[in-house]
Amino acid sequence: MRTLVVDHPLVASKLTALRDQRTDSQAFRRLTGELVTLLAYEATRHVRTAPTMVTTPLAPAAGIRLAGPVPLVVPVLRAGLGMLDGMTRLLPGAGVGFLGMVRDEATLLATTYAARLPVDLTGREVFVLDPMLATGGTLTAAVRLLAARGAAPLTVLCLLAAPEGLAAMAAAFPAGSRPDIAVVTAAVDERLNERGYIVPGLGDAGDRLYGVI
Ligand code: URA
Repeated sequence: MRTLVVDHPLVASKLTALRDQRTDSQAFRRLTGELVTLLAYEATRHVRTAPTMVTTPLAPAAGIRLAGPVPLVVPVLRAGLGMLDGMTRLLPGAGVGFLGMVRDEATLLATTYAARLPVDLTGREVFVLDPMLATGGTLTAAVRLLAARGAAPLTVLCLLAAPEGLAAMAAAFPAGSRPDIAVVTAAVDERLNERGYIVPGLGDAGDRLYGVI
């Protein structure tokens, strides 16, 4: 597994505003979208392309287009939904699948309650969206499920990662393992607390996006 921490002043300033407890849901959703678009720019750097030709008003020109099959974007419900618009802004032709996963707050283990995805993802590039890579349990399970359907390569986009979560993912998907897996994040924070929250983090991403349920 490879990790890319996107080092850019616009990313860092939007993340700072997201962390601020005074940022309300409306601003949080807007900032999340903007931040994801910036992360998506880096996350799609190696997206598959094919050569193509266009004709300008003056002459033919060689160019590229995204190669088929179209990539699949998979937000992990509920908080990953807040990242979908920011991602599809850069990849408007992508397909979208949905994974419903919930973390048991006592055991911190993830269970899948919904998988609205193509059965066969053989050779399909997949971008998984989940704002918080905390223990890594949810994302490890999500990546395993998608890899078992043939997805490759797999890129996880998250706003924040904890060292513990990155270590858990790296142990589950060691360097050189197949399929190729990358994690793209805006920052790696200090640690997890005893409740599995990232510190300093930004709190509960789902609650901050959509309100406390
Ligand atoms: N999920 C969240 O929403 N926040 C955290 O800090 C950890 C997991």
